[in-house]
Parts: sequence; C-alpha cells; structure tokens
Amino acid sequence: MRKPIIAGNWKMYKKLSEASQFVEALKNKVPSAEKVDAVICAPSIFLTSLVEAAKGTDLAIGAQNMHFEVEGAYTGEVSPSQLSDIDVQYVVLGHSERREYFNETDEAVNKKAIAAFENGLTPIICCGETLEEREAGQTVAKVSSQITAAIKGLTPEQVATSVIAYEPIWAIGTGKTATAADANETCGEIRSAIAQAVNEEVAQAVRIQYGGSVKPANVVELLSMEQIDGALVGGASLDAESYLQLLEAG
Ligand code: PEP
Repeated sequence: MRKPIIAGNWKMYKKLSEASQFVEALKNKVPSAEKVDAVICAPSIFLTSLVEAAKGTDLAIGAQNMHFEVEGAYTGEVSPSQLSDIDVQYVVLGHSERREYFNETDEAVNKKAIAAFENGLTPIICCGETLEEREAGQTVAKVSSQITAAIKGLTPEQVATSVIAYEPIWAIGTGKTATAADANETCGEIRSAIAQAVNEEVAQAVRIQYGGSVKPANVVELLSMEQIDGALVGGASLDAESYLQLLEAG
C-alpha cells in the first residue's frame, strides 16, 4: 500500500553537463509516479537546471541539505523557501555525512524538518548507527532516538508524509549491505518508535527507505521486505542505467 520511493543522492559528484545528460538519458524511461516515486537529490548548484530538465517527466528533484531559516545572514547556505521557489520537492536531512563532517545535530534536523513542511518540501530524514553502536547492541536505541527527535513538533499528517531513510553508517559507500532481514527488522523498529511517538496509523503510513550500498543486484531483495518502502542510494544512482534498474525494481 505504501508507494516505493527510490531517491538518488549524488553527494558532491558530477559536472553540470553530466547532470544534464543523466536527466536526458532518463527522459521517457522513468516509471509512472503512480507506481514509484523517483527522486534525484543533486548538488544545490544544479537544482535549477535539473528541475527545468525534468519538467514533464515523473522525476522529482531534491536537495541534499538546507538551512532551517527562510532567509538571513547565513553565508553559503540555501534556504527552504529558495528551494521551494525553484520547485524542488524533496530535501535530505540529517545524512550521516552531514552529521559527521558538518556537526548536524538532532535539534538542527528537527528545525529543518519543520521548516521543510512550512515551505512545501518533503523531508527525507536519515538515521543510522555506526559499526561500534551496532556491535554494542545499540542500533534500535540510536535510530529510534534520532527519528523521535527529528519529528518532534510535526503534525501527525506531516510525519505520515515524511520519508525516513535508515542508513547504517558502516554500509554507506563501503559495498557492505545490511542483510535484507536485518534492514527489515530495524525499519520495523523505526516504525514502532513512530507509533509510540505519534500513533499506529501514522507509523503504518510513513515510508521508510533503506540506504547503504544499494545496487541493482540487491535492490529487489531489499524492496521485497515488508518494512522497506524504497531506497536512498549514493554510488549506484550516479549512472543513469543503474538508477533506472533501481526504479524498475520499485
Ligand atoms: C548514501 O549516500 O546515502 C548512500 C547510501 O550511499 P551508497 O549507496 O553509495 O552506500
């Protein structure tokens, strides 16, 4: 019942010409948005061009981060209203790389999630444990507290339309994937945390992606799991053919 959502996260890769060629290669090939939500989260500098290039297709464009204020003296930042003004639809929040290298806190992710909805953007809220935390049996506590903090103050409707991305940090860009069963179990625990924080109906409605070395070879198994509603994909989303294969699995 929950529509799959396959989001590519290009991180800090591609030149403008390569980004444009990617969208060109996808034209007329993106599966219908009735079947799967296809999103590419690109570097901010490409967003205007990509939104334009993707017009008339079922490909949505997302940002990889934003500030929580709508405007102000924040040199180098991009605001939620600037993103929605150019018809960006999604924004990744709290990616582990932002948490690790740019000191993004749970509190900031929460402010950004609230700002995203105030500005008509759908947040893709990331959570995930380190290898150490996993080995210490802290996975559920970590992801539950990250998500509970991120959704604080959102209305039940907003939580229901948020997208959550469960990304074990040890699986991002490493070629190591959580087993489908493990990923499914943790996504189920995240759903339980949302049920506790909001209610069961919202928990059943919210879409939870798995992320961490997802590729055409493993996506079908991951997406066949009951609790997994899509994927947030780094490396394998950089190539148009492999991204299309991910969409086909959705
Ligand atoms: C990511 O960037 O969120 C990610 C999961 O990367 P990769 O697919 O390359 O592991």
